[in-house]
Order: sequence, then structure tokens, then C-alpha cells
Amino acid sequence: MKKNPQTIKPIILLNIDSLMSEPLEVAVQTGRAPALEFLMENGTYIPNMVSSFPTMSVTIDSSLLTGTYADMHHVPGLTWFDDSRKEIINYGTGFRETFRLGIRRSVHNMLYRLNNEHLSSKVSTIYEDLAEMGLPSASINSFVYRGNTPRKLRVPRLLSTLTRFENGEWTTKTPPIMSLGIFSKLRQHGFTPQIAAGNYKYTARELKYLIRKNNLPAFTFCIFQDLDSRIHFKGPMDIKGIAKIDKQIQKMLNMYSSWEEALNRNVWMVMGDNGHSPTGANYKKFIIDLRKILKKYRIARIERPVHKKDQLVLCVNQRMAYIYVLDKNIPLSAIVEQVKNDQRIDIIAWKEENYIQIKSGMREGSLRYFPTGDYKDVYNQTWGIEGNPNLLDLHMTNNKQLSYGDYPDALARIYSALHSHSGRFIVVNAKPGCDFKSQSNPFHLSGAAHGSLHKQETLVPLVIAGTTEKIKFPRLVDMKELILRLCSQAINK
Ligand SMILES: [Zn+2]
Repeated sequence: MKKNPQTIKPIILLNIDSLMSEPLEVAVQTGRAPALEFLMENGTYIPNMVSSFPTMSVTIDSSLLTGTYADMHHVPGLTWFDDSRKEIINYGTGFRETFRLGIRRSVHNMLYRLNNEHLSSKVSTIYEDLAEMGLPSASINSFVYRGNTPRKLRVPRLLSTLTRFENGEWTTKTPPIMSLGIFSKLRQHGFTPQIAAGNYKYTARELKYLIRKNNLPAFTFCIFQDLDSRIHFKGPMDIKGIAKIDKQIQKMLNMYSSWEEALNRNVWMVMGDNGHSPTGANYKKFIIDLRKILKKYRIARIERPVHKKDQLVLCVNQRMAYIYVLDKNIPLSAIVEQVKNDQRIDIIAWKEENYIQIKSGMREGSLRYFPTGDYKDVYNQTWGIEGNPNLLDLHMTNNKQLSYGDYPDALARIYSALHSHSGRFIVVNAKPGCDFKSQSNPFHLSGAAHGSLHKQETLVPLVIAGTTEKIKFPRLVDMKELILRLCSQAINK
């Protein structure tokens, strides 16, 4: 049965990459972001929504679109090691930040395998669920795009030699409306300033095109990515970037007879995806070189296939890293003891039988935990916990209620990273201000970085305007439920 589109109030979700609450509030208070101010004043503002872990865009967007953490959606980070194929997966080091087409494998991983092989088929995306409900949706500028509509994406001839696709063309399933840089455009003659994805002006033009044509579907997910790279270099308090994107949102609101009318006609949501941790200026002090710490082992080189003599593989996601132990003769505990010597590593986590084990380079003692137990956390999840709760800054009451301090939703998020893919590995998390380094991954001195479990990178703003419906918990994994709830209420009206 075709649903009457008149009953649906289209939802527009703007994901402003690296939007953070503090600079957002400053921008609003100083009159630099009138559109965002309007949405905040006429809607609900949540300054502390919990992102996923690692706090890297591919994992975050996968969590947002599937309503699950990485243990379910299986996109472990920007870079990780596929144990079954003995292959380092990298979606383009820096992904949104320093996307370079030089790496053929990254292009293939990012454009094809991420959606068609890695993102678990056991979970569904918002686009797929809406299609089941007979509702159309749109994706603008997102590399995670899996939907139900087969679509041919094309790499221009000049670049087609860089991909593994015949003639630079491949078929994939996307939402019915899809915009992704030069690969798929809404406006056929729109000029794309960047290859992989548009800048904020291009992105806004694609969205405004849908508004102007009166073609907004039930749900539109639109990513503004420019702020992230600014912040990596300028540090977290960059207000100018927010003001620029706000101008684009003003233009969208101006397309209606009044801004109030824009709210009557649509639900507007604005979110950040990850925060940033300001990084120190001194290389020796703030860059944690994992190859140095683990120098007595043979570590795989990223430019060639993993060799059978290689003992370790390092996959660095900025302030978080996966350390894979390929050599079965090396116990995980041996590697844990090595990394524990570095006082800048605040969390070390790994699986052991049915437990998750936690140690720290900064704090003494150990902690272990497992899902379903006596403790109930603020998200209604239950856990069994033994050992020193300070290692994860857990706050426990006498009646076994559990809340989180520096590491929001830490138990579920660490669990998710450790269950996001197979293999023998350890997760390490850097303390604020520090950045991991292995072989030639970007690091960020005197700027900012993300990836870790810490609240600095985890807590992001969320604005919901044009509806009185509330999110169940202020977590990014709970966004999907809210969006589907709004859509199903609209069609059942
Ligand atoms: Zn970034």
C-alpha cells in the first residue's frame, strides 16, 4: 500500500561533523549562529548525547543508521585488521579529513566493501526499514549509505583506474535519493569541488534542491564535513566554521515563508558526531609511538601484505588503537604488560573467556566485567563487575545502580569494539591530549584529535525541533528508534 506522503512530516537530520556543545553555545550566545539558535530555542537541546566507540566517523554513522554499536554492525573503525583475509582494512586514513585518492584499496574499501561486505547484513539501516514501510529516504554526503534501491555509481573516467570496478562503475544498494560527490549527484550539472564528497556549500545546495523541488522524503540524512578538518588544525574552539555552516542552514530556513513555517513543515534535527580532544604541542610528550613501545616484536608494515613472520598488526584510529597479536605463542597478557608501562595509555581492554578485562597505564589494579549481572546502568543495561571500578570511572551505589563519569556508556562501548570483528586483539585508549602513532598515520600536534572513549570526544550536541517526541536515552544508538517512531506515527495517523 502506498502511504499518503501528505501525512508525513519530513525529517531532516543534519550531521555537522565534529560539532561540539561548548563552541556551539558560544556561537549562539554571541549571535554567530542564528539558525542553530532558532532551532535550539524552538526545540529540545541535548548537549551531551553519547557517540559510539571508537569515535570515528564510519563507526559512528554505522551506529546512527543501524541503531546498534559495532558489536552488531561490524564496522570497527576507520582502520582495522580482517583476520579471515589477513588484510588491513583502511577506509582512507583520515577518511573525511584527509581523503586522498592515491590509495586504490581505500577507495574500494570505502565506496564498496564498507556498505556491501563489512556493514553486517544482520542489522538494517534506517533507509532499509523505511523502504519496508513504503517510505522514501535520502542520503547526502554519507559514505555509509546502504538502502534498498539498486543504483549504479560511477567513477569518472580519469579516476576509474584507481578503483577495482570494471569501467569505474559498480552497482550498490542505496536510498532512493542519493548524493555522494562525483559518484552520484542530485543536480546533474552541480559542480563538485571535492572528489569524494562535497564541501558544506555543495552539500547545502543538494539539500536545498530537494526542498525547492518539494521532494523531501520521509527522512533525509545530510552530513556537513568541513568542520572536522578545521578543528584538527585549529583546535576545538573554532567558532568560524560553525558560523559558516549556520549561514547555509539560514538559507534553507529562508526557503519557507517564515522560519516557524519551516518547523511546521519539517522536523529538523542537528547533531555532532564526535568531539575533539585538544592535543599538546610537544611530540615526545603527547605522541604515543606504539611501534617504539612494542619494538621487540615484528610488526606488519602497512604497504605490503601481512607476512607469516609478522607477530603484530597495529591499526590506529587516532586516540584509540587496535593491537592484533598474530603470533599464537605470544599471550595477550605479554602485550598488555608492555603497553601498561606507558602512563599516557588510560585504558587497555581485551577479551578473556567470557570476561572483558581492563587495565590501565595510569591507574593501579584491574577490572573485569561481563554482560548481564547484578549492576544496572543508567541505560537499563545490566552487568557483572569485579575489581577496581576507578579504572573506568564507574560510579556505583549500594543498591547496584551504575553511572558513568569520564567514559560515558563505557561498558557497552568497550564491549562493542571488542566484539566488532574476530581475531586476537587488544584495545588501547589514550589519555586526553595524546595521540597514537604507528606507521605513517596522521597525528595532530597542537590541534585536536578524536577516536577515544573519553567524554571529550564522546559527548556531542543534539537539537530536535518541529516535534515534541523525545529520544529514549541521549545516545546516538537511540536516534534510529526515534526516527522510525516519528515516521510510523505519521503513517498511522
Ligand atoms: Zn576527524
